[in-house]
Amino acid sequence: MSHLNLPGSAPAAPWVLSLSRGAGIIAWQFQSVFQVFPTPGMSLEITFLGTGAAYPTPARGASALVLRREGQCWLFDCGEGTQTQLMRSHLRAARITKIFITHLHGDHIFGLPGLLCTLSLQSSPDASKAPVDIYGPLGLRSFLWRSLELSHSQLLFPYTVHELVPTPDQCPAEEFKDFSGLDRAEALPQGPPGRVLHLDPAEDSYLLVEDEQLVVRAFRLFHRVPSFGFVLEEKPRPGKLNVQKLKDLGVQPGPLYGRLKSGAAIVLESGATLRPADVLEAPIPGRKICVLGDCSGPLGAGALRLCQQADLLVHEATLGDSQQDKARERGHSTPGTAARLARQCRAKRLVLTHFSQRYTAGHAELQQLRGQAEAVLDGQEVMLAEDFMTIEIPVKK
Ligand SMILES: [Zn+2]
Ligand SMILES: [Zn+2]
Repeated sequence: MSHLNLPGSAPAAPWVLSLSRGAGIIAWQFQSVFQVFPTPGMSLEITFLGTGAAYPTPARGASALVLRREGQCWLFDCGEGTQTQLMRSHLRAARITKIFITHLHGDHIFGLPGLLCTLSLQSSPDASKAPVDIYGPLGLRSFLWRSLELSHSQLLFPYTVHELVPTPDQCPAEEFKDFSGLDRAEALPQGPPGRVLHLDPAEDSYLLVEDEQLVVRAFRLFHRVPSFGFVLEEKPRPGKLNVQKLKDLGVQPGPLYGRLKSGAAIVLESGATLRPADVLEAPIPGRKICVLGDCSGPLGAGALRLCQQADLLVHEATLGDSQQDKARERGHSTPGTAARLARQCRAKRLVLTHFSQRYTAGHAELQQLRGQAEAVLDGQEVMLAEDFMTIEIPVKK
């Protein structure tokens, strides 16, 4: 595990001085800022870009964090100012391939149209470029399309919006707005493509992404407006090959080793079939990261089941335990709320974020928040997120 507080060591922002020189120069300067660190294979880390609630301040940005894996960056929430936070970090904005939005409150989405425009400035037209996938609650497609359309912004790269249809019980009845008819009267002819995803009632979750290596699902949370949590889970990797056994069987290192490791059986010279299970050690479990949006708690069984044994659980704690009633009334959590969920899930590490801006840096009460959560977790260490803090989740053996 490493905690890096990077603002002091992050590269200066030369682009500020170049703003008047035209878009081409700005784009070049952005690249120079973002190309700082090489990306090691199989690394998995998250970097907090904004850890404050409601609005950004110079001390705490509005909600945003980046999960970096295999050289790709996935952004979770995009509050106002996220793009400048990215510039101050060690991350490359151009590497963002997926964006996940927990809910439609402004402190989680106001940075998104601006970030997309800046990414476009940095890119060149390329019809073959894979679209940026954006996942979030129903209404997000309309918000994005209208923001870009009304500001005459044209992106040079494609994007798709995959909307999650919430259930009305994800927020107080008087707050629920049905956005399902938003685009019906006025179709979005050039609007972004994408899917509309409904809750799988059997699983109590939404399947967003699945490939050979990992699965990403969303689950429901209760907040002032429908909110979601996301869980990224790596699939188990094949165990190590028992090389000695292979050699004893007369199989020399080469392509056959790769075939066995990929799960295919091979036929030996003797005519016997060698199955992967005969020469592979136990599979290596993948890592699991859960990022929850604003909430006073989960809704349904999906969250608890999906977050079991999470290696890292990122949970909001807007106010301290002494203001529990106020927090709940506003659809938010306290450290105690977050820690109880972490305990139920047997999460290995809990990180608190989304702090009320009343807790300025060094605020005595801020440290009390950590204690409130640790008390529920029998002293297990709890981390308080700070802007630019990076947490690495090591590969399991
Ligand atoms: Zn918020
Ligand atoms: Zn909110």
